[in-house]
Amino acid sequence: MNAITVDNLVKQFAEKRAVDGVSFEIAAGELLVLVGPSGCGKTTTLRLLAGLEPVTSGEIRFGERLVNEIRPRDRNIAMVFQDYAILPHMTVFENIAYGLRSRRTPRAEVRTGVPAAAATFRIDHLLARKPRQLSGGERQRVALSRAMVRDAALYLYDEPLSNLDAQLRYQAREDILTLHREKRRPTVYVTHDQSEAMALGDRIAVMNAGRIQQIGTGAQLYDHPANLFVAYFIGTPSINLFDMVVRGDGDGLVVEGAGLRLPLDPSVTERLRRHVDRPVKLGVRPEHLHVPRMAPFEVTEDNTVHGVVNLVEPTSSGSTVYLSLPEGPGGEEGQDFVATFKVRVPSSYLDQEIPLGVDMAKVHLFDAESGASLL
Ligand code: ATP
Repeated sequence: MNAITVDNLVKQFAEKRAVDGVSFEIAAGELLVLVGPSGCGKTTTLRLLAGLEPVTSGEIRFGERLVNEIRPRDRNIAMVFQDYAILPHMTVFENIAYGLRSRRTPRAEVRTGVPAAAATFRIDHLLARKPRQLSGGERQRVALSRAMVRDAALYLYDEPLSNLDAQLRYQAREDILTLHREKRRPTVYVTHDQSEAMALGDRIAVMNAGRIQQIGTGAQLYDHPANLFVAYFIGTPSINLFDMVVRGDGDGLVVEGAGLRLPLDPSVTERLRRHVDRPVKLGVRPEHLHVPRMAPFEVTEDNTVHGVVNLVEPTSSGSTVYLSLPEGPGGEEGQDFVATFKVRVPSSYLDQEIPLGVDMAKVHLFDAESGASLL
């Protein structure tokens, strides 16, 4: 049985439908990340789970129990917020103990549980301090300790790392995973940062405009995006998208447009027959463009694009190269795209036109109108 089941959840605020038919399940020890752009309904979904907002329609179940009408304090939830919700007049000890005391936990349990939770996050030497005497990272660990000390039915995180600098954020991600592995409780983690989602989620639900676009593991979303939104949202640098049209070419198919003509892999021919002469978006991840001599497949004239190098950014594993397609024959402006190479590209490439092999077995195709994946 799933630990948490959300079925067709809707939240209507006056004019605004913030959550528009959201459904998902969470297994007992699973961490589900809700990720999406600002305003897509992530926080509202979390607040509905916590009982902080009444639902307009739909069902939320903890195990088999319908909790729609259950008060927040009776749902047994531990929450970690962006601003940590730490009480300023209480010491670190009292802050961590707060959730336990409000549930009438025996005193002895509080006395041992609080320092143990604080030790997990390396703040056991700060128990007597007040929040104003702590750094941002330390405050964040107070909030995590407060969640740690509880034995909640559901753990909810709302952008808990957004006030931390990059270094602390990596440490805090580890801390959150520590807490999750210790507790093995269903967890929902909200963020707008797709790299954080990829790092933390057992599964990730990508949201846009109040709806879940796709749920899956990071690899499923990256390798098999269900639509254009997911393809573009997941992955840095972003996927390259080209406006093309599918055309018949002998027994096979090609995509044509943006000054390019590329053969589609024979394995997709059958599926795409009915899309001949229809507009599509071709999606190519930056790492599926290769310098011909480094390509793990045969590069021919047919599967090559030419790009003028605008910018080369060295990265730890190679280079990120920003290019534009050369001007079309009619003088129309070339489209920009980006490629990542496993080799360092010398800066003498700047302003040069270079050939790049496209790994046509790895490309994505989307319906230009609906955005749905065609593969
Ligand atoms: P962010 O990442 O910016 O926090 P979010 O994905 O968490 O965004 P929500 O906070 O859930 O988004 O908001 C979803 C939409 O609902 C937004 O358009 C927001 O303005 C609207 N909204 C949220 N709360 C209310 C409210 N109490 N009354 C009216 N509209 C609201």
